[in-house]
Amino acid sequence: MAENPGRKLSPREQARCEALQRLSDRMKEQGYRRVDLVVDVVQANGMAVVIMLPFLVAAAVIFFALNPVKELYISFSGLLLWLLVFLVLMVLHEAIHGLTWGLMAPHGFKAIAFGVIWQMLTPYCTCTDGLKRWQYLLGGLMPTLVLGFGLAALATSQGSLWLFSLAELMILGGGGDFLIVLKMLRHPKKSGAVYYDHPYECGLVVFEPAGSDAPAA
Ligand SMILES: [Zn+2]
Repeated sequence: MAENPGRKLSPREQARCEALQRLSDRMKEQGYRRVDLVVDVVQANGMAVVIMLPFLVAAAVIFFALNPVKELYISFSGLLLWLLVFLVLMVLHEAIHGLTWGLMAPHGFKAIAFGVIWQMLTPYCTCTDGLKRWQYLLGGLMPTLVLGFGLAALATSQGSLWLFSLAELMILGGGGDFLIVLKMLRHPKKSGAVYYDHPYECGLVVFEPAGSDAPAA
């Protein structure tokens, strides 16, 4: 499969893209089959909202049940601070992907890279090492578990609507990650499969031993 990115890649992305191509050739020689599990970014945004909606509603029901809101007032400086914290949380989200994968990757943090897709103003984190299924899954979900659900729990215990609104946004922002994990879970599990984060698309590349068509126990 030749790499065919739908957008212009930065030099570092180009290098990762070529590395994937080489890895792909090597793995095929060793008898692996390549499966790309990627999601279309635009389509993913819509699906992400649908997937996260039950979580958003559940968190809101709990928050407002425990913290009846008497007044809604936010100052201009409060709004600016809110925006600033939101940007910090977005960066933290990627950092947590990197931290979780980096702790488990064979090459550690050397395997972790960050970047920004400027056309979409989307920061991302990628891991160039192959991971086990549960490792990829954990690293994929961790930012939303901590900054979404963890922050929502903190905001609820503090009765802070300000913080809660940010937690809800972080849950929503985890939609793409959840979508990818869902796609991965729906793909039949094969023993001996290696999971690579896709270097320039939303999703992952799985190399599975060809001929291992029986699902792993
Ligand atoms: Zn993410």
